[in-house]
Amino acid sequence: MPLLSLKNISKRFDSTPAVADISLDVERGEFFGLLGPSGCGKTTTLRMIAGLEKPDAGTIEFDGRDITDLPAERRGFGMVFQNYALFPHLNVSENVAFGLRARHRPAAEIKERVKGALELVQLPGYEKRRVDELSGGQQQRVAIARAIAIEPALLLFDEPLSNLDVTLREETRGELRELVGRLGLTAVYVTHDQEEAFALCDRISVMVGGGLLQTGAPRELYEHPAKLAVARFLGRNNLIQVMRLSSSNEGTGEFKTLQGGHTLRVLIQKGELAPLNKPCTLAIRPEHVVLRHAADSLENTIPAEVREINFAGATSTVKLDAGGLLLEALVLQPNAFAVGTRCAAVLPAERISLLKE
Ligand code: ATP
Repeated sequence: MPLLSLKNISKRFDSTPAVADISLDVERGEFFGLLGPSGCGKTTTLRMIAGLEKPDAGTIEFDGRDITDLPAERRGFGMVFQNYALFPHLNVSENVAFGLRARHRPAAEIKERVKGALELVQLPGYEKRRVDELSGGQQQRVAIARAIAIEPALLLFDEPLSNLDVTLREETRGELRELVGRLGLTAVYVTHDQEEAFALCDRISVMVGGGLLQTGAPRELYEHPAKLAVARFLGRNNLIQVMRLSSSNEGTGEFKTLQGGHTLRVLIQKGELAPLNKPCTLAIRPEHVVLRHAADSLENTIPAEVREINFAGATSTVKLDAGGLLLEALVLQPNAFAVGTRCAAVLPAERISLLKE
Protein backbone atom coordinates (compact mmCIF):
# COMPACT_ATOMS: atom_id res chain seq x y z
CA MET A 1 0.00 0.00 0.00
CA PRO A 2 1.41 3.44 -0.93
CA LEU A 3 2.06 5.80 1.98
CA LEU A 4 0.44 8.75 0.18
CA SER A 5 -2.26 8.57 -2.48
CA LEU A 6 -3.79 11.44 -4.40
CA LYS A 7 -6.95 10.34 -6.17
CA ASN A 8 -8.45 12.51 -8.92
CA ILE A 9 -7.50 15.77 -7.22
CA SER A 10 -8.62 19.06 -8.78
CA LYS A 11 -8.33 22.64 -7.65
CA ARG A 12 -9.24 25.93 -9.28
CA PHE A 13 -8.82 29.52 -8.16
CA ASP A 14 -11.75 31.54 -9.50
CA SER A 15 -11.54 30.90 -13.21
CA THR A 16 -7.98 29.45 -13.14
CA PRO A 17 -7.79 25.66 -13.09
CA ALA A 18 -4.57 25.16 -11.10
CA VAL A 19 -4.66 21.35 -10.78
CA ALA A 20 -6.78 19.14 -13.02
CA ASP A 21 -7.71 15.62 -12.02
CA ILE A 22 -4.35 14.29 -10.90
CA SER A 23 -3.69 10.94 -9.27
CA LEU A 24 -0.40 9.73 -7.86
CA ASP A 25 1.00 7.31 -5.30
CA VAL A 26 4.09 7.84 -3.17
CA GLU A 27 5.65 4.75 -1.63
CA ARG A 28 7.03 4.59 1.90
CA GLY A 29 10.68 5.72 1.98
CA GLU A 30 10.50 7.20 -1.49
CA PHE A 31 11.97 10.54 -2.57
CA PHE A 32 9.27 11.67 -4.96
CA GLY A 33 9.55 14.67 -7.29
CA LEU A 34 6.95 16.95 -8.84
CA LEU A 35 8.67 18.55 -11.81
CA GLY A 36 7.23 21.12 -14.17
CA PRO A 37 7.45 24.66 -15.51
CA SER A 38 6.39 27.70 -13.50
CA GLY A 39 2.64 27.92 -12.94
CA CYS A 40 1.91 24.27 -13.72
CA GLY A 41 0.32 23.63 -10.33
CA LYS A 42 3.17 22.03 -8.35
CA THR A 43 2.93 24.30 -5.32
CA THR A 44 -0.85 24.01 -5.23
CA THR A 45 -0.52 20.21 -5.25
CA LEU A 46 2.03 20.31 -2.43
CA ARG A 47 -0.15 22.69 -0.41
CA MET A 48 -3.09 20.33 -0.78
CA ILE A 49 -0.93 17.45 0.48
CA ALA A 50 0.10 19.65 3.41
CA GLY A 51 -3.51 20.60 4.16
CA LEU A 52 -2.96 24.30 3.42
CA GLU A 53 -5.39 24.20 0.47
CA LYS A 54 -8.51 22.13 0.16
CA PRO A 55 -9.08 20.26 -3.11
CA ASP A 56 -12.34 20.99 -4.96
CA ALA A 57 -12.60 17.34 -5.91
CA GLY A 58 -10.80 14.09 -5.15
CA THR A 59 -9.34 12.49 -2.05
CA ILE A 60 -5.96 12.37 -0.33
CA GLU A 61 -5.08 9.25 1.61
CA PHE A 62 -2.17 8.85 3.97
CA ASP A 63 -1.23 5.49 5.44
CA GLY A 64 -4.60 4.12 4.36
CA ARG A 65 -6.57 6.94 5.98
CA ASP A 66 -8.60 9.61 4.20
CA ILE A 67 -7.00 12.91 5.29
CA THR A 68 -8.68 15.18 2.73
CA ASP A 69 -10.45 17.16 5.46
CA LEU A 70 -7.79 16.84 8.17
CA PRO A 71 -6.33 20.23 9.21
CA ALA A 72 -2.65 20.84 8.38
CA GLU A 73 -1.50 20.81 12.01
CA ARG A 74 -2.96 17.36 12.55
CA ARG A 75 -1.22 15.79 9.56
CA GLY A 76 2.22 15.84 11.18
CA PHE A 77 4.05 16.69 7.95
CA GLY A 78 7.30 18.68 7.86
CA MET A 79 7.62 21.46 5.30
CA VAL A 80 10.58 23.32 3.84
CA PHE A 81 9.98 26.27 1.53
CA GLN A 82 12.08 28.27 -0.87
CA ASN A 83 12.32 31.31 1.42
CA TYR A 84 13.12 29.20 4.52
CA ALA A 85 10.38 31.04 6.50
CA LEU A 86 12.63 31.13 9.56
CA PHE A 87 11.68 33.48 12.37
CA PRO A 88 14.31 36.23 12.36
CA HIS A 89 13.68 37.23 15.99
CA LEU A 90 14.32 33.70 17.25
CA ASN A 91 17.72 32.04 17.48
CA VAL A 92 18.59 28.77 15.73
CA SER A 93 17.52 26.58 18.62
CA GLU A 94 14.20 28.39 19.04
CA ASN A 95 13.52 28.09 15.33
CA VAL A 96 14.22 24.37 15.28
CA ALA A 97 12.16 23.89 18.45
CA PHE A 98 9.17 25.74 17.06
CA GLY A 99 7.15 22.74 15.88
CA LEU A 100 7.98 20.78 19.04
CA ARG A 101 6.82 23.64 21.30
CA ALA A 102 3.61 23.91 19.28
CA ARG A 103 3.12 20.20 20.03
CA HIS A 104 3.75 20.85 23.75
CA ARG A 105 6.66 18.43 24.03
CA PRO A 106 8.52 18.39 27.38
CA ALA A 107 11.51 20.77 27.62
CA ALA A 108 14.11 18.01 28.01
CA GLU A 109 12.84 16.22 24.92
CA ILE A 110 12.82 19.47 22.92
CA LYS A 111 16.44 20.16 23.89
CA GLU A 112 17.52 16.70 22.87
CA ARG A 113 15.67 16.71 19.57
CA VAL A 114 16.98 20.14 18.62
CA LYS A 115 20.52 18.99 19.34
CA GLY A 116 19.99 15.84 17.30
CA ALA A 117 18.41 17.69 14.37
CA LEU A 118 21.27 20.24 14.27
CA GLU A 119 23.79 17.41 14.27
CA LEU A 120 21.99 15.80 11.35
CA VAL A 121 22.23 18.96 9.27
CA GLN A 122 25.83 19.46 10.36
CA LEU A 123 25.25 22.56 12.45
CA PRO A 124 26.08 21.27 15.93
CA GLY A 125 26.74 23.99 18.49
CA TYR A 126 24.78 26.62 16.52
CA GLU A 127 21.88 26.65 19.00
CA LYS A 128 22.37 30.23 20.23
CA ARG A 129 23.27 31.82 16.89
CA ARG A 130 20.91 34.40 15.41
CA VAL A 131 19.50 33.21 12.11
CA ASP A 132 20.42 36.45 10.34
CA GLU A 133 24.08 35.74 11.14
CA LEU A 134 23.97 32.55 9.08
CA SER A 135 24.71 32.07 5.40
CA GLY A 136 21.88 31.17 3.01
CA GLY A 137 22.95 27.54 3.00
CA GLN A 138 23.10 27.42 6.78
CA GLN A 139 19.66 29.02 7.06
CA GLN A 140 18.27 26.44 4.71
CA ARG A 141 19.79 23.69 6.83
CA VAL A 142 18.13 25.21 9.91
CA ALA A 143 14.82 25.12 8.02
CA ILE A 144 15.44 21.45 7.23
CA ALA A 145 16.38 20.77 10.87
CA ARG A 146 13.13 22.41 11.96
CA ALA A 147 11.15 20.20 9.59
CA ILE A 148 12.84 16.95 10.64
CA ALA A 149 12.83 17.76 14.40
CA ILE A 150 9.16 16.82 14.60
CA GLU A 151 10.05 13.45 13.02
CA PRO A 152 7.50 13.99 10.29
CA ALA A 153 5.65 11.14 8.68
CA LEU A 154 6.17 12.98 5.39
CA LEU A 155 8.56 15.76 4.34
CA LEU A 156 7.35 18.33 1.83
CA PHE A 157 9.83 20.51 -0.03
CA ASP A 158 8.93 23.45 -2.27
CA GLU A 159 11.98 24.55 -4.29
CA PRO A 160 14.00 24.63 -1.06
CA LEU A 161 17.37 25.19 -2.73
CA SER A 162 16.53 27.80 -5.33
CA ASN A 163 17.88 30.73 -3.28
CA LEU A 164 21.31 29.15 -2.99
CA ASP A 165 24.17 29.66 -5.41
CA VAL A 166 25.08 26.79 -7.72
CA THR A 167 27.90 25.26 -5.64
CA LEU A 168 25.97 25.44 -2.40
CA ARG A 169 22.83 24.14 -4.08
CA GLU A 170 24.65 21.04 -5.33
CA GLU A 171 26.30 20.47 -1.98
CA THR A 172 23.07 20.92 0.01
CA ARG A 173 21.24 18.72 -2.49
CA GLY A 174 23.64 15.85 -1.82
CA GLU A 175 23.35 16.33 1.94
CA LEU A 176 19.57 16.46 1.78
CA ARG A 177 19.31 13.25 -0.20
CA GLU A 178 21.69 11.49 2.14
CA LEU A 179 19.86 12.77 5.23
CA VAL A 180 16.38 11.79 4.07
CA GLY A 181 17.70 8.34 3.12
CA ARG A 182 19.52 7.88 6.42
CA LEU A 183 16.43 8.81 8.45
CA GLY A 184 14.25 6.56 6.28
CA LEU A 185 11.85 9.46 5.62
CA THR A 186 9.43 9.84 2.74
CA ALA A 187 9.66 13.10 0.79
CA VAL A 188 7.73 14.96 -1.88
CA TYR A 189 9.94 17.53 -3.60
CA VAL A 190 8.68 20.28 -5.90
CA THR A 191 11.03 21.80 -8.46
CA HIS A 192 11.13 23.26 -11.96
CA ASP A 193 14.78 22.20 -12.26
CA GLN A 194 15.17 18.98 -14.21
CA GLU A 195 18.74 18.37 -13.10
CA GLU A 196 17.79 18.79 -9.45
CA ALA A 197 14.84 16.43 -9.76
CA PHE A 198 16.99 13.84 -11.55
CA ALA A 199 19.73 14.05 -8.92
CA LEU A 200 17.40 13.77 -5.94
CA CYS A 201 14.35 11.72 -6.78
CA ASP A 202 13.62 8.01 -6.98
CA ARG A 203 10.57 8.77 -9.10
CA ILE A 204 9.24 11.93 -10.68
CA SER A 205 5.88 13.10 -11.98
CA VAL A 206 6.13 15.60 -14.81
CA MET A 207 3.42 18.22 -14.45
CA VAL A 208 2.34 20.60 -17.20
CA GLY A 209 -0.73 22.83 -17.26
CA GLY A 210 -2.26 21.40 -14.08
CA GLY A 211 -2.05 17.77 -15.23
CA LEU A 212 0.40 14.93 -14.63
CA LEU A 213 1.82 13.80 -17.94
CA GLN A 214 4.10 10.96 -16.93
CA THR A 215 5.48 9.38 -13.78
CA GLY A 216 8.62 7.29 -13.66
CA ALA A 217 12.23 6.89 -12.61
CA PRO A 218 14.45 9.76 -13.89
CA ARG A 219 16.20 7.61 -16.48
CA GLU A 220 12.93 6.21 -17.77
CA LEU A 221 11.46 9.71 -18.23
CA TYR A 222 14.60 10.97 -19.87
CA GLU A 223 15.12 8.07 -22.24
CA HIS A 224 11.50 7.21 -22.92
CA PRO A 225 9.25 10.22 -22.66
CA ALA A 226 5.72 9.07 -23.45
CA LYS A 227 4.39 12.42 -24.55
CA LEU A 228 5.53 15.28 -26.72
CA ALA A 229 5.28 17.79 -23.85
CA VAL A 230 7.51 15.61 -21.64
CA ALA A 231 10.08 15.19 -24.44
CA ARG A 232 10.08 18.96 -24.99
CA PHE A 233 10.34 19.81 -21.31
CA LEU A 234 13.10 17.35 -20.44
CA GLY A 235 16.03 18.72 -22.36
CA ARG A 236 17.07 18.43 -25.97
CA ASN A 237 15.53 15.85 -28.21
CA ASN A 238 15.35 15.10 -31.91
CA LEU A 239 11.63 15.15 -32.68
CA ILE A 240 10.92 13.34 -35.93
CA GLN A 241 7.59 13.57 -37.75
CA VAL A 242 6.61 10.18 -39.17
CA MET A 243 3.78 8.05 -40.55
CA ARG A 244 3.39 4.45 -39.53
CA LEU A 245 3.77 1.88 -42.29
CA SER A 246 1.38 -1.02 -42.63
CA SER A 247 4.35 -3.41 -42.35
CA SER A 248 4.38 -2.64 -38.59
CA ASN A 249 3.33 -5.22 -36.08
CA GLU A 250 2.97 -5.39 -32.30
CA GLY A 251 6.49 -5.15 -30.93
CA THR A 252 8.15 -3.52 -33.92
CA GLY A 253 6.78 -0.46 -35.62
CA GLU A 254 7.96 0.69 -39.03
CA PHE A 255 7.69 4.38 -39.78
CA LYS A 256 8.50 6.62 -42.71
CA THR A 257 9.91 10.05 -41.86
CA LEU A 258 7.95 12.93 -43.41
CA GLN A 259 11.23 14.74 -44.07
CA GLY A 260 13.71 12.67 -46.05
CA GLY A 261 11.44 9.63 -46.47
CA HIS A 262 13.65 7.33 -44.37
CA THR A 263 12.32 4.13 -42.86
CA LEU A 264 12.85 3.74 -39.13
CA ARG A 265 12.12 0.71 -37.00
CA VAL A 266 11.01 1.33 -33.44
CA LEU A 267 10.35 -1.03 -30.53
CA ILE A 268 6.74 -0.56 -29.53
CA GLN A 269 5.09 -1.51 -26.27
CA LYS A 270 2.18 -3.87 -26.61
CA GLY A 271 -1.04 -2.04 -27.45
CA GLU A 272 0.75 1.21 -28.26
CA LEU A 273 0.85 0.97 -32.04
CA ALA A 274 0.13 4.38 -33.59
CA PRO A 275 -2.77 4.68 -36.05
CA LEU A 276 -2.04 4.37 -39.76
CA ASN A 277 -2.29 7.43 -42.03
CA LYS A 278 -1.89 9.90 -39.18
CA PRO A 279 1.37 11.73 -38.58
CA CYS A 280 2.99 11.06 -35.23
CA THR A 281 6.28 11.96 -33.58
CA LEU A 282 9.34 9.92 -32.65
CA ALA A 283 11.97 11.18 -30.23
CA ILE A 284 15.64 10.30 -29.83
CA ARG A 285 18.21 12.07 -27.66
CA PRO A 286 21.18 13.67 -29.47
CA GLU A 287 23.58 11.55 -27.37
CA HIS A 288 21.93 8.39 -28.68
CA VAL A 289 22.45 9.24 -32.34
CA VAL A 290 25.60 7.42 -33.45
CA LEU A 291 27.73 8.87 -36.24
CA ARG A 292 29.54 6.65 -38.72
CA HIS A 293 31.67 7.44 -41.74
CA ALA A 294 29.59 5.53 -44.21
CA ALA A 295 26.14 4.03 -44.38
CA ASP A 296 26.04 0.26 -44.03
CA SER A 297 23.23 -2.21 -43.82
CA LEU A 298 22.71 -1.69 -40.11
CA GLU A 299 19.09 -1.05 -39.10
CA ASN A 300 18.03 2.63 -38.90
CA THR A 301 21.20 3.89 -40.59
CA ILE A 302 20.52 6.94 -42.71
CA PRO A 303 22.92 8.92 -44.92
CA ALA A 304 23.47 12.51 -43.85
CA GLU A 305 25.69 15.53 -44.34
CA VAL A 306 27.35 17.46 -41.52
CA ARG A 307 25.94 21.01 -41.55
CA GLU A 308 27.38 22.54 -38.39
CA ILE A 309 29.53 21.60 -35.42
CA ASN A 310 29.06 23.41 -32.12
CA PHE A 311 31.97 22.86 -29.78
CA ALA A 312 31.00 22.92 -26.09
CA GLY A 313 34.05 21.65 -24.25
CA ALA A 314 33.69 18.00 -23.34
CA THR A 315 31.08 17.40 -26.03
CA SER A 316 30.13 18.85 -29.37
CA THR A 317 26.80 19.02 -31.11
CA VAL A 318 26.92 17.91 -34.71
CA LYS A 319 24.00 19.17 -36.81
CA LEU A 320 23.07 16.88 -39.65
CA ASP A 321 20.90 17.09 -42.72
CA ALA A 322 19.60 13.70 -43.77
CA GLY A 323 17.85 14.50 -47.04
CA GLY A 324 15.78 17.25 -45.41
CA LEU A 325 15.49 15.57 -42.01
CA LEU A 326 17.46 17.70 -39.57
CA LEU A 327 19.08 15.85 -36.68
CA GLU A 328 21.47 16.64 -33.87
CA ALA A 329 24.08 14.22 -32.54
CA LEU A 330 26.07 14.79 -29.37
CA VAL A 331 29.60 13.46 -29.69
CA LEU A 332 32.77 13.48 -27.65
CA GLN A 333 35.21 13.74 -30.54
CA PRO A 334 33.77 15.50 -33.57
CA ASN A 335 37.18 15.83 -35.29
CA ALA A 336 36.50 13.09 -37.78
CA PHE A 337 33.34 14.79 -39.02
CA ALA A 338 34.14 18.14 -40.62
CA VAL A 339 31.40 20.42 -41.88
CA GLY A 340 30.29 19.37 -45.37
CA THR A 341 31.37 15.72 -45.06
CA ARG A 342 29.02 12.86 -45.83
CA CYS A 343 28.40 10.40 -43.02
CA ALA A 344 25.73 8.11 -41.66
CA ALA A 345 23.53 8.57 -38.60
CA VAL A 346 22.45 5.46 -36.74
CA LEU A 347 19.26 5.79 -34.70
CA PRO A 348 19.18 2.62 -32.55
CA ALA A 349 15.62 1.27 -32.40
CA GLU A 350 15.72 0.77 -28.62
CA ARG A 351 16.60 4.44 -28.14
CA ILE A 352 13.62 5.79 -30.07
CA SER A 353 10.38 6.66 -28.28
CA LEU A 354 6.99 6.91 -29.95
CA LEU A 355 5.28 9.95 -28.43
CA LYS A 356 1.64 10.57 -27.68
CA GLU A 357 0.39 14.08 -28.33
P1 ATP B 1 5.88 28.17 -9.54
O1 ATP B 1 6.97 27.18 -9.86
O2 ATP B 1 5.98 29.42 -10.33
O3 ATP B 1 5.67 28.37 -8.08
P2 ATP B 1 3.74 26.22 -9.64
O4 ATP B 1 3.92 25.14 -10.64
O5 ATP B 1 4.07 25.90 -8.24
O6 ATP B 1 4.50 27.50 -10.11
P3 ATP B 1 1.17 27.06 -8.65
O7 ATP B 1 1.77 28.06 -7.72
O8 ATP B 1 0.60 25.84 -8.05
O9 ATP B 1 2.22 26.65 -9.78
O10 ATP B 1 0.06 27.81 -9.51
C1 ATP B 1 -0.78 27.14 -10.44
C2 ATP B 1 -1.78 28.14 -11.02
O11 ATP B 1 -2.70 28.56 -10.02
C3 ATP B 1 -1.15 29.42 -11.54
O12 ATP B 1 -1.86 29.83 -12.68
C4 ATP B 1 -1.31 30.39 -10.40
O13 ATP B 1 -1.37 31.72 -10.88
C5 ATP B 1 -2.65 29.96 -9.81
N1 ATP B 1 -2.72 30.20 -8.36
C6 ATP B 1 -1.95 29.63 -7.41
N2 ATP B 1 -2.30 30.04 -6.17
C7 ATP B 1 -3.32 30.92 -6.34
C8 ATP B 1 -4.14 31.70 -5.45
N3 ATP B 1 -3.96 31.64 -4.12
N4 ATP B 1 -5.08 32.48 -5.99
C9 ATP B 1 -5.28 32.53 -7.33
N5 ATP B 1 -4.56 31.82 -8.23
C10 ATP B 1 -3.59 31.03 -7.75
